[in-house]
Amino acid sequence: VAAASGLLVVQGDTSSAGPLRLSGLKLVAGMARGEAVFHEPRIVVEHIVAEDTEAERERVYGAFRRMREQIDNMAKEAEFGTTAEHQEILETYRMFAYDEGWSRRINQAIDSGLTAEAAIERVQQRMRARMQEIDDPLLQERMHDLEDLSNRLLRIVSGRMGTAAQSGLTRDTVLVARNLGPADLLEYDRRRLKAVLLEEGSLTSHMTIVARAIGVPVIGRLNDIRHSVEEGETILVDGDNGSVIIRPTRPLATGFEQRMAMSQKRRAEFAAVRTLPAQTLDGVHVSVMVNAGLAEDAAALPMTGADGIGLFRTEFQFLVSATLPGRDRQQRLYTKVLEFAGERPVVFRTVDIGGDKALPYLTDEAEEQAENPAMGWRALRLSLDRSTLMKAQARALIEASAGKVLRVMFPMVSEPWEYEEARSLFEKQVAWAARAKRPVPTRVDYGAMLEVPSLAEMLDQLLPRLDFISIGTNDLTQFLFAADRSDPRLAQRYDWLSPAILRFLKRVLDAARAAGVPARVCGEMAGRPLEAMALIGIGAENFSITPAGVGPVKAMVRSLDAAAVRARFDQLLARPPKDMRKALTDWARRHSVTIG
Ligand code: PEP
Ligand code: MG
Repeated sequence: VAAASGLLVVQGDTSSAGPLRLSGLKLVAGMARGEAVFHEPRIVVEHIVAEDTEAERERVYGAFRRMREQIDNMAKEAEFGTTAEHQEILETYRMFAYDEGWSRRINQAIDSGLTAEAAIERVQQRMRARMQEIDDPLLQERMHDLEDLSNRLLRIVSGRMGTAAQSGLTRDTVLVARNLGPADLLEYDRRRLKAVLLEEGSLTSHMTIVARAIGVPVIGRLNDIRHSVEEGETILVDGDNGSVIIRPTRPLATGFEQRMAMSQKRRAEFAAVRTLPAQTLDGVHVSVMVNAGLAEDAAALPMTGADGIGLFRTEFQFLVSATLPGRDRQQRLYTKVLEFAGERPVVFRTVDIGGDKALPYLTDEAEEQAENPAMGWRALRLSLDRSTLMKAQARALIEASAGKVLRVMFPMVSEPWEYEEARSLFEKQVAWAARAKRPVPTRVDYGAMLEVPSLAEMLDQLLPRLDFISIGTNDLTQFLFAADRSDPRLAQRYDWLSPAILRFLKRVLDAARAAGVPARVCGEMAGRPLEAMALIGIGAENFSITPAGVGPVKAMVRSLDAAAVRARFDQLLARPPKDMRKALTDWARRHSVTIG
């Protein structure tokens, strides 16, 4: 530990630096310009000279104590259910948090007459300067960890523990963070939040899905972004290419603005297609619905050009609430959503809580310790165990749908009995409402989400009981490949266009068609033109996608000959090419299919 304290540091002061271009992983497309804001803000030290040295010393002692507690707690929580990489980081944090050398140097700086904040900052700067002379990537990593801690100490000592969302955004913002949860993101003012840059992040994590839904470009896997930019500096975000320019020069900014204008023009062209029918050249009608989760999404439905909401993620209301939303609050939301949707159908999914959508007011102790929350006690599993919760949701949905058709589906059904139990709970609530002479829906359509592979083996039993089936490709692919959807290191490893996925999906689609049960694909996959083309190739005709995908997917559909792509797929799946993505891209180009 003593040795470590002598080593730390590097980078950091970028204020005198010139422009910098970084490349990461494109998570949500789009271009934006704004000023850097750190999700966990850096503190600007205002008072340098101390009035009472003893008092400052006490403040630093107290802050160290709190920081150590926080790190210990984080480490304790992380003993179960996080990656080795995360644990390693926490171990390093702990080592620094208890490093005597570091706290001693801060105390010496206080002795020289500085305030606690100024002392912490002075030591941070000195360590940084010393480290700049040593060229060792490993030590640079360590330095970042220490900078993190040093900033945490500063926030504690100055009593500013909140995120930037709490202080509010005052200008067009590019938010910078190591990682974010979906609830973190929803706390920001959407009018000001122009883009998000992450050091981690993955394509199908719920944060990314939420960002896509609200139209905020996101780039992930930007190593070191938090140490390459200062708060307030200008950042140009090219989410279409997965790159950013920090501190742009005038010519760089001009070039960027031209590309941004072109991108907007392309978007406008897609916007024009949005309202046209999604019909292929040979007359196959494709139903294009959208995924939504907030009342605002439903309000924007007419603008998306979609046929309805194919997946309403009811848990978003739970995610943005500090306390459990009761039946009344739920009902108010569902009523509003149905009103906004008008004639267009809305498919409500019962809550999918758990996994990467943990809720502080609901989390069970056992779940906190689960090693793999995505495979844990979540979604329907949790709802069936907490039947009071599910009953409340059923009543809210039933009452909100009075005099209308209620369409409801259950997430993460793994065996048919789970679907039966959930359906029976709803049926009992409908019967109860009818007996009590309350207004009831004119009809209830029940569906199951197929996102756990085991269910595909039971379709002969399940399909006759379903009014519709919805395939969630986000979870399905994570389970088929045994690859955590929120692990950034696996973000690019497996392809939705792999023959394994497409064969699997085709089997499910064929079985549903044979049973006369409508099937809809509602994962992120279907929102991308090339992937949607492949889905049509294996027989899918109903999609529920992210709103931004409606234009591009409709443009693809309208330029496609469904019979031709289906004939091609029979060959491609029988004898898969090495690179399916390339084979499909080539085919699309040759046949002038608009794939963006
Ligand atoms: C899915 O898993 O594909 C899905 C649509 O549900 P969610 O992304 O909300 O888990
Ligand atoms: Mg899912």
